[in-house]
Amino acid sequence: MSERIFKKNDEITLTVTDISDDGSGIGKSEGFIFFVKNALPGDEIRAKVMKVTKSYGFARIEEVIKPSAGRCKAACSVAGKCGGCSLQNYRYEEQLRYKFIKVKNDLIRLGGYSEEEIAERLCDIVGMDEPYRYRNKAQYPVRMGKDGKPHSGFFAGHTHSVIETDDCLIEPEVNSALLRAVINWMNKNHVKAYDEETGKGLVRHVLIRHGFTSKECQVNLVINGSKIPDEAGLVRLLTDVMKDDLKSITVCPNTRRDNVILGDSYRTVYGEGYITDTLVGITFKISPLSFYQVNPLQTEKLYGLARDYAGLTGEEEVLDLYCGIGTISLMLSKKAGHVTGVEIVDRAIKDAKENAKFNAIRNAEFITGAAEDVIQTMLPGKGERRTPDVVVVDPPRKGCARSCIDAILTLAPSRVVYVSCDPATLSRDLKIFREGGYELVKATPVDMFPHSSHVETVCLLSNRKPDSYVHLNLKMEDYYRIKDAEKEQEKK
Ligand code: SAH
Repeated sequence: MSERIFKKNDEITLTVTDISDDGSGIGKSEGFIFFVKNALPGDEIRAKVMKVTKSYGFARIEEVIKPSAGRCKAACSVAGKCGGCSLQNYRYEEQLRYKFIKVKNDLIRLGGYSEEEIAERLCDIVGMDEPYRYRNKAQYPVRMGKDGKPHSGFFAGHTHSVIETDDCLIEPEVNSALLRAVINWMNKNHVKAYDEETGKGLVRHVLIRHGFTSKECQVNLVINGSKIPDEAGLVRLLTDVMKDDLKSITVCPNTRRDNVILGDSYRTVYGEGYITDTLVGITFKISPLSFYQVNPLQTEKLYGLARDYAGLTGEEEVLDLYCGIGTISLMLSKKAGHVTGVEIVDRAIKDAKENAKFNAIRNAEFITGAAEDVIQTMLPGKGERRTPDVVVVDPPRKGCARSCIDAILTLAPSRVVYVSCDPATLSRDLKIFREGGYELVKATPVDMFPHSSHVETVCLLSNRKPDSYVHLNLKMEDYYRIKDAEKEQEKK
């Protein structure tokens, strides 16, 4: 711990050693931890203290005394100001190296694996060949500028001031022309942008989504009201930018006074109320309210690994927990006997069911509910379900509930495929799986969000429990039957 008490405006020097979850550099000055925006591992910096709490502080870079070897000039003109890409000034190879090491260190530090075990089992990170223009979905806030005119861009980190940008380099290039068309229409019709302070003004956000495979595009205006003026004019300006591929223009009323971007419903102004796109061999129908993976290229790679790890032959019963709109379930249904997807958000389950129908998939069923609750109804002796041979989990950042892992251990599938968006909770959960007899066979980090500090990891765990039966290659039902028979024997 530091002896020194730091206060606001103090000058400090430090060497950055790590990156925080939100992409800030982390380093120590006289033993005290500071978070510094736009600072990179290896940077030696002079900084000014902005805020101090009991155990850490925040500081702002004044001067990079000695830059990190990974430092580069960000390609985007608003990088560093916009809250989106925190690592654009870090060479992409360095970003990948950093993310790989983060997964490795967490698995060792929090997962309890040894260096040797990780060296054997952790595969190279899967990055992008071209880490720009990878997002298929953008949500641009629109706000009135000091010039009395509407402007669009992105929120600055942690605040709601809009950093104006004409072109975001991780979004498709055509978005800037579509945005300009919306702003044009607003100017022509004297439409005001929403004001968070007063709750007045009409246009809150412009959402643009592209099907990267289908090439179809959808523009959705989130409005503080129910109607917009001159719909025909808006359609004309937008279709002038994109003639054939613009398939859907919608408005989505949202009069709430909070930060939630979308409203609960939408109305179609032009074309269909949805677009379609193909991912992992499944065609998805995507409405403005649907969740859909934002980096389709990397999703193919991540879920492709999950499919390989599941090792299906066409017979298996698969349980896909935290299934979202069923992307993984539907992909696996083609190689499994039967798949059950479980997800807490009912609207996502509705999308999953609709997408199953749309793709004529009959061996996938979907259940709304918390994974940790629904799985209890699947335990041996509770109902008629077949015991899963493979369980897939793809939980949110907080990882799996302990009771969910315990239930998976009781179900004893031969394989568990764990898709994670947080290496720390992944490592915590793998430790529990290991104590329950599941060994990590393989893990591969995948970079789904270049220029951010996030990293996904897909892992294969295998059941070591029925060691004595493994060589017999028994199905789990048979294993249970033998176990039950043994118990009966013991009683006698
Ligand atoms: N595999 C999914 C994405 C998973 S993201 C897909 O392909 O679409 C994590 C999902 O877990 C989210 O959809 C979230 O709504 C859901 N979720 C969060 N907590 C949950 C819980 N306790 N039980 C079930 N699902 C949950």
